Amino acid sequence: MLSYATENYPFNFHPRCAHIKLCHLMFADDLLLFCKGDKASIMTLLRAFSTFSKSSGLKMSPGNSNAYFNGMVSANKEEILSVSVCTPKKEGGLGLKNIQQCNIAAVGKLVWWVYAKPDKLWVQWISHVYLKGTPWTDYRPTADSSWSWRKICQGKEELKQGFNQGIWYVNPTEYRIRNGYNLMRTAKPKVEWFHLVWHNCAVPKHRFIAWLVHMNALNTRHKLKRIGVSDSSLCCICEKEEETIQHLFFDCEYSRKVMGRQRNACRLEYKFHRPENNANEIRRMMTDRCLHLIKAPIHRTDANWLKKICQNEGA
Ligand SMILES: [Zn+2]
Repeated sequence: MLSYATENYPFNFHPRCAHIKLCHLMFADDLLLFCKGDKASIMTLLRAFSTFSKSSGLKMSPGNSNAYFNGMVSANKEEILSVSVCTPKKEGGLGLKNIQQCNIAAVGKLVWWVYAKPDKLWVQWISHVYLKGTPWTDYRPTADSSWSWRKICQGKEELKQGFNQGIWYVNPTEYRIRNGYNLMRTAKPKVEWFHLVWHNCAVPKHRFIAWLVHMNALNTRHKLKRIGVSDSSLCCICEKEEETIQHLFFDCEYSRKVMGRQRNACRLEYKFHRPENNANEIRRMMTDRCLHLIKAPIHRTDANWLKKICQNEGA
């Protein structure tokens, strides 16, 4: 699948691996992916990975994954790292919109008008002054074209996948900016912990911290010392062990006491071990409880809902 992706999509091999076309190494359940540090290559690898996850059901654990960059311009690095922030919350991001892609998607509306609304006055003017009979799909702007016209043409190139495949061109459905935006981004598999982290009843600050924990991005002392920001890497509560995410939330003496009290208050039998296991375990427990409590005949819609949860649990 990776070989197919590297041959058929924009991809540049890592400079030292290009001559043998090497893009990955595998050992047991560990996988190392590498490529040249450009956005197109990284997107190609992620897309292949996403396809693999959808077809096999095996998912990458962001908490146990790391990204290493070397010799890259910091602007490119920030752009690549912002990908996880600018993905929907259901897919593990922060749900922010990528402003650059939003802008291109908005320009896509003008591109679609040139395709689909020849009666508009400005489209007639464009056809007469710029296109001059050239099909819109093949048209390239000349060097003396205005800045705004060149930007519209650039937007056409960015969204050409949608227009060429006839999603908006042949199909009479009107172009929607949201659809254009979604076309440009790579969809990721839904994360299990979405409802647990982004629950409406949770305090916003706690939601954000929980998200950082699941993304393995919380600035613990262990991490801060490694990058030279903190002098000590010991836990700020017990000052006995290294302050890692695992220690801070699960292994620390204090955290264990808090967890124990919570467990007793909620009458939970499960012992929390790692952040990535909790979402599944809590859902399983709640499903069991619902099924146990509801003994009387229930409405078909409720029964279907419970059945769906149980199926998801088994998947
Ligand atoms: Zn501690």
